[in-house]
Amino acid sequence: MSIQLRILGASGGTTTHGGWKPLPFAWLKGSSGRAMGMVVAGGSGHRLETTSFLVNETILLDAGTGVGILSLNELQQIRHILITHSHLDHVASIAFMADSLFETTTTPILVHTSEETIAALKTHLFNNILWPDFTTLVNPLGIKVIEFVPFSSDAPITIDGLSIEMIPVSHTVPAVGYRIESGTHSFAYTGDTMTNDTFWEAINRHQKLDMLITECAFPVEMKEIAALSKHYDPDTLAADLNKLEIKTKVFLTHFKPGKEETILNDLRERVRDIRINPLMQDDTYQLK
Ligand SMILES: [Zn+2]
Ligand SMILES: [Zn+2]
Repeated sequence: MSIQLRILGASGGTTTHGGWKPLPFAWLKGSSGRAMGMVVAGGSGHRLETTSFLVNETILLDAGTGVGILSLNELQQIRHILITHSHLDHVASIAFMADSLFETTTTPILVHTSEETIAALKTHLFNNILWPDFTTLVNPLGIKVIEFVPFSSDAPITIDGLSIEMIPVSHTVPAVGYRIESGTHSFAYTGDTMTNDTFWEAINRHQKLDMLITECAFPVEMKEIAALSKHYDPDTLAADLNKLEIKTKVFLTHFKPGKEETILNDLRERVRDIRINPLMQDDTYQLK
């Protein structure tokens, strides 16, 4: 089965005039040449949104501000949300989706994540202060719009024909990455993390990976901030990419707005044997 991955948001922040154009030429020019198998699904100019990927139209992988580009009809197709960690740039749109879909929902949207992240979202977001507790409210049809489903790294799950493995990583709050496989195709995503062994060991346990999406939030010149906030910088990511034992295509995400070219150039100088691509907002990647 093929996997379709639509990038709704891939930035470390939101801005409209970031100088980074989410268009293919911006990276084709700066790299050694060959085009990747990607389709531009529609351009939204220069607006950058935070992390959110739509997998095969029914599964959302993180729910950052990028979700806002979806139509109501597209939102209604989403049945599952996989969350990496509790930070707002990855979860903000769960709150707005719950509100937008409340009246019309006939079966709850299942939000799969770790026990720790569920606890954080219940305590700090869906607490009837910052936002209504949509995990207990029922709509006029008697249905809850969202339901949390605890997910653990010990027990992969299957959703809509995709096998999903949760992988613990290392960030300032409990955080995980995911490896998603259709049987014939697969991709993995680090979520937010600093250097770790768990993610790289987990993906090396499999024979094959079509696409690896890793964050690299800061350039080398900001490596102290990267360390404090437990994100990768090009030095730490280059070291971790050395742990990779399988051949795959590497895509970077979560750039600090305005630092995109610097981060890419820093990393390309340090990693000569792997082709490094930026993950492009508004692109749809077809693994088939
Ligand atoms: Zn984070
Ligand atoms: Zn983040």
